[in-house]
This record gives sequence, C-alpha cells and structure tokens, in this order.
Amino acid sequence: MDLLSERIKGMVESSTLAMAAKAREMKQKGFDVISLSLGEPDFKTPKHIQEGAKKAIDDGKYFSYAPVNGYLDLREAISEKFKKENELNYASDQIVVSNGAKQSLANLFLALLDPGDEVIIYAPYWVSYSALVKLAEGKCVLIKGDIKDDFKANAAQLKAAITDKTKAVIFSSPCNPTGSVFTREDFEGMAQVLIAHPEIIVIADEIYELINFAGVHVSIGSLPGMQDRTVTVNGFAKGFAMTGWRVGYIGAPLWLAKAANKIQGQITSANCSIAQRAALTALTSPKEASKVMANAYYQRRQLVYNLLKKIPGVEVNMPQGAFYFFPDVRSYFGKKGIRDAADLCIYLLEESHVSLVSGEGFGEPNCLRLSYAASEEHLKIALARITKALEKLS
Ligand code: PMP
Ligand code: GLU
Repeated sequence: MDLLSERIKGMVESSTLAMAAKAREMKQKGFDVISLSLGEPDFKTPKHIQEGAKKAIDDGKYFSYAPVNGYLDLREAISEKFKKENELNYASDQIVVSNGAKQSLANLFLALLDPGDEVIIYAPYWVSYSALVKLAEGKCVLIKGDIKDDFKANAAQLKAAITDKTKAVIFSSPCNPTGSVFTREDFEGMAQVLIAHPEIIVIADEIYELINFAGVHVSIGSLPGMQDRTVTVNGFAKGFAMTGWRVGYIGAPLWLAKAANKIQGQITSANCSIAQRAALTALTSPKEASKVMANAYYQRRQLVYNLLKKIPGVEVNMPQGAFYFFPDVRSYFGKKGIRDAADLCIYLLEESHVSLVSGEGFGEPNCLRLSYAASEEHLKIALARITKALEKLS
C-alpha cells in the first residue's frame, strides 16, 4: 500500500545532501574520499561566536521558546545591518529569523504561491529553489545564463519570461552554484524590467554576501523603487561558518513577513534560542574571522582554477564569489559508457574517490559543481585524482 502523498512522491531529494551522504558512506567503508560536494565551510565557527552561545546557556535566560520571528534584539541588529551594510530599510517587524535560510525560502514560497503560480528562477540555481517552489505547488520558469556570460541571464530573458502568472523572481548573488556576482548594472537592467510589474516579488538570496571577490556587494532592494517589493534573504551558515546552527533570516514587506511568521508559528514555533544568541554575537562583533575565511577561499580559488584549466575538455570560468566552481564537462559525455554529468560524478567518486555534484539538479546538466571549501592540501590531491581519472576516459 502506498500511503505517501503525491506532493512527496513528486519531490526530488536534495542532490547536494545526497552526494554528501554517498561520500560519507564510502568513507565509513574505509575509502579515502575527499568530499567536494557539500557547500559547507571547512572552518570551525569562530571562537567568539561559540563563546556567545556558551554565555547564553550560562545566563540561564534562553531556555524557553523564543518569539516566533526571533528575539527582538537580534531582529534589531539585523535591521541595523541591512541599513548600514546594504542600504536597505527593513524595520525589526519586517525581519523573520528562521531555521536556516532554507526555511526562510520555504516560508516565502508557501506564503506567496497558489497552484500554478510561476516563479522565475535564474539558472543555474541552487537545488532547493525548484524543490521548494514545487512543494508550494508553484511552477518553475527557468532563465538560463551561459558560461560565456558568467552564467548570468540578462534582462531581455527576464522580460520574455514574465506572464500574468508570475508571482516572484529569485536569484542568488554571489551565486550557488556558479559563483557569479550580479553588478549594479545587472540589477539596473533587472529593475528596469520589473518596475513595470509591481505585482512581482523579488527574492534576493544574499547568503554568500561575505564571500565576494568582486569587491562590491549590491542588494537589488537598494535600487530606486525596489525596496518595497524585494525580500532579502541572508543567513549565518556561510560567511560565519555556522551551517549546523541553522540561522537564516529575511527582510521583507511587512505583509509578507507577517505571513512567514504565521507559517513558522505552525511549523517550527521559532528558531533555536541559543543559536539565535550566537547569531547576535556574530552580527555585533568585528568581522575579522569572516575576512580571514574569505581570504582563504580567495587563495584556493586561484589554485583550483589553475588546476581545472589544465584539464583537457573541461571548460571553466572564474567565479567572483561563494566557494564553488561549475565547470562544463560535456566533452566527456559518450565516452566509455558515461552518458551525462550524473554518470561522470559517480565515475569520479568510484575511480578517484572525490565527490562532486552533477549540474542537473542546478538546472545545467552539462556541468559539475565542485566546492572548494576544503584545505589546499585536499584540493591539490583531489584535482590530481580528477585529472587522472578523466585522462583514462580520453
Ligand atoms: N541559499 C543558498 C544559495 C545556499 O547555498 C544555501 C545553502 N546553505 C541556502 C540558501 C540555505 O542556507 P541555510 O544553511 O542557512 O539553510
Ligand atoms: N547549500 C549547501 C550546498 O549547496 C548546503 C547543502 C544544501 O542545503 O543544499 O551544498
């Protein structure tokens, strides 16, 4: 008897988490696997943030349910951060703190979409966007960027994708999986199109804000006329190496923040109290540790770029942020039984014991995603192994 809902049967498993689980399984069997599949900092959460959590426990004041949308002082600090660092004006009641930015996004799609409503997704995109839109019974409309344009779809593509069913548009900048960063000019082009459609909500995922090698981080919500219809999503997982703490947040129009709050009140009550205190410490302390981590990613980016460039048949661009490469590997399809990127991923895992993620789940089946949030030593070994395994296919 199959008791599962159509909703869950139609849902795909997160390919990033699935590949990470596969790598973990092989490691447990004794294989020396280098995991470059999961987008997760290899650094520990900075000491002062750990101390913030310990202090919260010792204070003894944070053992009850937190307010559904997050502690007021944390929301005030986030509101202040938006103002100072992003030129965005979200009052504290327009902020909702959630169990990771993933829940922030789930709340948004559940709050916005009726069956058949469309969400325009800039592709390649992070795997969970499409799954969460579908969970909310929405329809994904992809606009795809080419590697030659740093994987960035343009304003004309956005314009052509808009229909009377379009409810929202979503992108990440810096982007997971491509590392691309939208410039002010890119956003001006987008805004020019969107200004004629005030009914479309813009969801700007800025979770990689602190890992940006382009130098400038621009929030689309800060452009003239955009604030009131833009939701800015951010979180602590990447820039502060806090993936396990599960703290993400949105700044949103008040009506939408209230809706997210309502959903969250029924699903998770609130985010973990101690994790919120750690997040407050992160936000209100100097960001030296984040800068040190970003600098390490910057060094590794060059290292990995040089090594990937040398592999015949691999096309690669230079990402401007986040900690991913998204090389095009289609020249290997059709060789020795490799049909597609998923086959190539499995081949590389079995042959070289390096785990990557197929581009398919990110909306670009000709590519593979490699996370370079790993030590230089591991990256060098992994790239040497990949090079050797691909040579065997040639
Ligand atoms: N957005 C993007 C682009 C991501 O890569 C991730 C993955 N961490 C998230 C959102 C979700 O982050 P969190 O761990 O805070 O749920
Ligand atoms: N966002 C990270 C990634 O893309 C973490 C895993 C996930 O939640 O997808 O690998």
